[in-house]
Formats: sequence, C-alpha cells, structure tokens
Amino acid sequence: MNLLDTNLSAIEEQFDVIIAGGGPAGSAAAIAAARAGCSVLVVDRGIHPRPKVCGCCLAPAGIEALTQLGASSVLNEAQQLSTVRLECGDRIIQMRREGGVAIGRDELDESLLRVAAESGCVILMGSAASFDVDGSVVVRQDKIVRRIRSRVRIAADGLQGTSLDGMSKFEWRVSKSSRMGFGATVDGAALDICREQILMSVHTGGYIGAVRLANGRIDIAAAAHPSIIRGAGGVAPLAAQWLGSHLRIGAGLGAAEWRGTPFLTRRRMQLAYKDVLVAGDASGYVEPFTGEGMSWALATGLAAGNHASAMILSNASSNQWPRIANRIVHSSRMRCWITARLLRHPRLLRSAMHTAQFFPSVADRVASAFGSNLDATIYSRIFTKPAP
Ligand SMILES: Cc1cc2nc3c(=O)[nH]c(=O)nc-3n(C[C@H](O)[C@H](O)[C@H](O)COP(=O)(O)OP(=O)(O)OC[C@H]3O[C@@H](n4cnc5c(N)ncnc54)[C@H](O)[C@@H]3O)c2cc1C
Repeated sequence: MNLLDTNLSAIEEQFDVIIAGGGPAGSAAAIAAARAGCSVLVVDRGIHPRPKVCGCCLAPAGIEALTQLGASSVLNEAQQLSTVRLECGDRIIQMRREGGVAIGRDELDESLLRVAAESGCVILMGSAASFDVDGSVVVRQDKIVRRIRSRVRIAADGLQGTSLDGMSKFEWRVSKSSRMGFGATVDGAALDICREQILMSVHTGGYIGAVRLANGRIDIAAAAHPSIIRGAGGVAPLAAQWLGSHLRIGAGLGAAEWRGTPFLTRRRMQLAYKDVLVAGDASGYVEPFTGEGMSWALATGLAAGNHASAMILSNASSNQWPRIANRIVHSSRMRCWITARLLRHPRLLRSAMHTAQFFPSVADRVASAFGSNLDATIYSRIFTKPAP
C-alpha cells in the first residue's frame, strides 16, 4: 500500500489537527502531534517526487530537530559536508564547516512524510487546503471538495502556500529589496565540484550555490535581484555566467530545468489567531545564503506540533505561539538578515575574505555564518496524551 496515496472521499470528517503543507515544517508538526496522541491530517498539493527550489544543505540544527523527532533515519543516505568554498570577484577561500549534510528535497520530504504516516497521520497528496474563517478546512482533490474540521489548524505551506489566502489577518509583508530564488538539479558532470563541499559564489545583485548530492547529481540554488535576472536574459544564462566565473562548466547545465520562487524576504502580519498556528516558511523567510530554512522549518514545525497538542490536551493557547516561534528562530534569522545586508556589498565581503586568508579566526567566523544552533530547549518539550 502506498502510505501517501489517500483518497479524499475516504477520510474522517474531524481530526485533532489539520496541517496544510507536507514540507519539512508540516511533516515535523505532524510527527510531533501524532506522537503526542493526536489524530492528524496532512494535506499537500504536490505529488512526490515534487520539485522544490532549495540548496539542499541541512545544517546541524536541522539534524538536531530530526533527532528530537526520532526521524534521523531519513538522513541515512545523505552526503556529509565538510567545507565551504566561498568565491567573490577574484577571491576564493575555503573554510572547514563540518556537521551538515546535503540531501535532495524529493528524498527528504518524501521520507519525512513516510515517518508521519507510520506515526499514524493521514496524508493527502495532490490536494489543496484552504482555511476558512468559520474554523473549517476546505480540501480539494481533483473534482472532490470536502469541508473537514479540526481543533487546531497549522499552516505550514511555505512561501507559495495558499491555505491562508482567505484570512486577511495573515497577510504577507514583503520586503521591497527582496531577491527571488531559482534553482535546478543537474547531471553530475555539469559542474566540476568536489563531494563534501558547499560552493557559494557571490556577485553584484545576488549569489549562487551548488552542492553534490549522495547520488552524484548536483543541486544548484540562487538568489538574485529581478533586475539582474532580466539583465542577464533569464535565470539559465545568469547561472552559467555566475558559476562559470571560477569553475569549468559541462554540457549538463544547458539541459537544466530551472524553477523560480516569489520574493524571498517576507513575514506574516500574524503567526496565530484562534485555532490557527503558522510554521516554517509560511511564517516568514529571510534569504537562503546561510542554508538554514529547512532547520527553521523543522524546529518551528516540531514546536507547532507540540503546541497544537498542548492546546488540545492542556490549557495552552494560540496566543503563546508567536512568542515561542520567534524565540526559536529570532537570533538566527537576525544573523541571516545581517549577512544578507553585507552581501549587498561584495567589496566588503572581498575585504573580509582577504583578511580571512591571514587570520584563520576570521575565516571561522565567516564559516560559522553557515547554519547555527536554534533554541533546542523550546522545541524538545513534547506533550503526551495520557493513555485512556
Ligand atoms: C534558492 C533557495 C535556496 C535554499 N537553500 C537552502 C539550504 O541550502 N538549506 C536550507 O536549510 N534551506 C534552504 N532554503 C530554504 C528551504 O527551502 C525552505 O526554508 C524550506 O523548504 C521550508 O520548508 P517548509 O516546510 O516551511 O515549506 P516548503 O518546503 O515550501 O513546503 C510547503 C509545502 O506546502 C505545500 N502547499 C502549498 N500550498 C498548499 C495548500 N494550499 N494546500 C496544501 N499544500 C500546500 C507545497 O506543495 C509544499 O509541499 C533555500 C530556499 C531557496 C529559495
């Protein structure tokens, strides 16, 4: 039986928790709530394998969140990472950065959803969820439409999610200076990069990263100002120009299927209201340079699943959620925001790289920008339903 192949007409009318989105945030929330004893429905509009623009580098904080979830087996086939190669203008530095892994998003997201299904969650793929102001969730799968109820609803549907479109309280605030993301996974011969290495190449108007996955293919992800993309004639020529500034490029790059994202830097006006909690990218995002989005998603997803179960099983309220969510990610998002501002001035970065060649402690500080620890004490609190 395919655990992820549930028919909308066959499911119950009521769950303890309904989650829109089956990415890292949604799966983490589902696993945490199900393990606390709640009945959980996860609705995702994609069908696996579904493409996702992402640099695929999971930082130590994300690995820690997976351990907290009891789901670290999803990383069994992941590629260990040990160095960061940073390029800017005529400068290149290589820094040690151990503890992270590279994993393809098809593989990570599907494995996590399988753990959620094995924990007892019902998973509906190929289905879109819309949160109604009346407290229900309208789910659409092909031509079937059903209204399903729950005690807590979690929006974990990422930057391009639509579950909160009917609730004006949750509108986005998008930064005017935001960049857009794009990426592709390409044949292993397309670029000459080592295993275990994260490549980051910084340019005026944006940056591009690449990493070799365990299966040998290469994941490429970038963020750029829209005017720079337009000026280069599109994302494909821009990627070739940026990657080719220091590396030999093979034929596979030309065959890449590029995908884009909307503006990246944004936040929600609100993170909770009545029975609704927002987690992962759906709550806000900064920029991908420091490779932490999946860690933020896993950590806030886990905490949202725990908080949902605390709302159902004890007297927790959704009013507490914004403070909890912000405490988990605030300092690391702030550091990412400062890094993103500095990257707007490649000349400054080149000076830092020049200094780092002579002072290893500066290189360590630069390397430490790639992933950080999150407040583990918050998201490790698991509320468990007492046995009946
Ligand atoms: C260019 C780029 C590079 C990046 N590089 C890295 C990196 O190297 N490391 C890292 O940790 N992070 C990186 N990130 C960030 C990372 O991809 C995200 O932070 C992460 O995917 C967020 O997970 P999520 O679960 O919140 O959302 P998502 O992964 O976006 O999942 C949301 C899910 O919701 C579903 N959905 C949407 N709307 C609905 C709906 N109405 N109903 C049902 N389902 C719906 C979608 O199908 C999707 O499966 C990068 C991002 C970009 C743009």
